[in-house]
Amino acid sequence: MLHRLLGMLGSDLAIDLGTANTLVSVVGEGLVLNEPSIVAVEEGTHRILSSGCAVGHLAKQLQGRTPQSISVVRPLSAGVITDFELCEAMLRYFMRKAQPQGMRFRPRVLVAVPGCITPVEKRAVYNSTQRAGAREVLVMPESKAAAIGAGLPITEPVASMVCDIGGGTTDVAVYSLGDVVASKSIRVAGDAMDQAIVDYMRRHYSLRIGTTAAERLRIAIGSAYPLEEELSDEVPGVDAISRVPRKASITSEELREALGTPLLQIVEAIKATLDDCSTDLASDLVDNGLVLCGGGALLHGIDRYLSEHTGLPTRVCAEPLTAVARGTYICLEHFDRWRSAMQSSDEDV
Ligand code: ADP
Ligand code: MG
Repeated sequence: MLHRLLGMLGSDLAIDLGTANTLVSVVGEGLVLNEPSIVAVEEGTHRILSSGCAVGHLAKQLQGRTPQSISVVRPLSAGVITDFELCEAMLRYFMRKAQPQGMRFRPRVLVAVPGCITPVEKRAVYNSTQRAGAREVLVMPESKAAAIGAGLPITEPVASMVCDIGGGTTDVAVYSLGDVVASKSIRVAGDAMDQAIVDYMRRHYSLRIGTTAAERLRIAIGSAYPLEEELSDEVPGVDAISRVPRKASITSEELREALGTPLLQIVEAIKATLDDCSTDLASDLVDNGLVLCGGGALLHGIDRYLSEHTGLPTRVCAEPLTAVARGTYICLEHFDRWRSAMQSSDEDV
C-alpha cells in the first residue's frame, strides 16, 4: 500500500545504461534524456569537472581534446561497470536531470543490464543506482528489453530472435514463452569496429588515427554490404613514422575490409545462439527472422550482410538506438503485466 502510494507520488524511471549511451525515460512522460555515458575528470583527484556537471554531452565535447590534467572516461566498458564511483556519480547526475522539477520522492528505477553480467556486477548496479537516489531498484536483461521495445511477441510460444549491437557488446538472444531460450554476448560491437579501423589505417597507411575519428568515418561511409555507389572520405591522423599530422583518403570498400573480422564475429555469435536452440524453435526463425537493434544496427547494409551469412531473414527495428529504452519503459508502464521480466535486489540474493 505504502509502495503504491509512493509510486503515485514519485516518478518511476527506466534507464538503459549502455557502454556508449545512457537513456532515461520517466513514466508518464517518455524518453527525457539521451546522453553519452562519459564523464570528464581531473587526473589525480578523480573529481568530475564543472562541479560534477561535466557528464554526458558536456564531457563528449571535451573528448580527445583535453590537457594532461583532465581525462574523459567511460565508467562502463563492454557493458559492465569498470569504475563504480564514476558510474554512481554519472547515474546521480542523469537521474537528477531526468526527474521533473520539484519531484522530491525517491523514484523506483528499472535498469537494463547486459545478459552476461555476473552476480557481483549486478550487485554493483543495484548499489550504484540505490546510492544515486533510487527508492527501489529493478533490473532486467537488455536483450529482453530490446525485444519488447522492438515489438516482438516474446511471450508467445514461438521463437523471437534479437541481436543488439551496441558500443561495447553485441547481445544475441532467442525468446519463447517470455523466457530466454538461448543467448550469447560478445565483446565485439561499435568499439571493436573502431579499433579495427584504427589498426587498418596504421597497417595500410602508416597513419595513426584516434577512435573518435574512426567512429566518425564508420558512421559516414561504413558499410557491411557493397554500396550501390561506393564512397570515400578523408581522415585526419598522425604519420606513424615521421609523426607529422596528415590526412588520408579512404574508400568504403577499404572500410568494409577493415570491418570484416568484427562482422564475422557477430555472425558466429548468431550461429552459436542458433545451435543452442531446439530444431523446432530454430525452424520458427526461418519465418520470424532476426531483428537488429542498438546503434550498430545503423551500419549500412548490416541487415543484408547478416541475412546472407546466417540464412535468416533480417530486419532492423524502427529507431534501433532507443529499442532498449522503449522496452524498459513499457515494462514500468505496464508493471503488473511485465513484473516477472524484472528482478529486484530482494529477490536476487
Ligand atoms: P550502448 O547500448 O552500448 O550504449 P548504443 O546502442 O547506444 O550502444 O550504440 C552505440 C553505437 O552505435 C556506437 O558504437 C556508435 O558508433 C554506433 N552508431 C550510432 N549511430 C550510428 C550510425 N548512424 N551508423 C553506424 N553506427 C552508429
Ligand atoms: Mg545498449
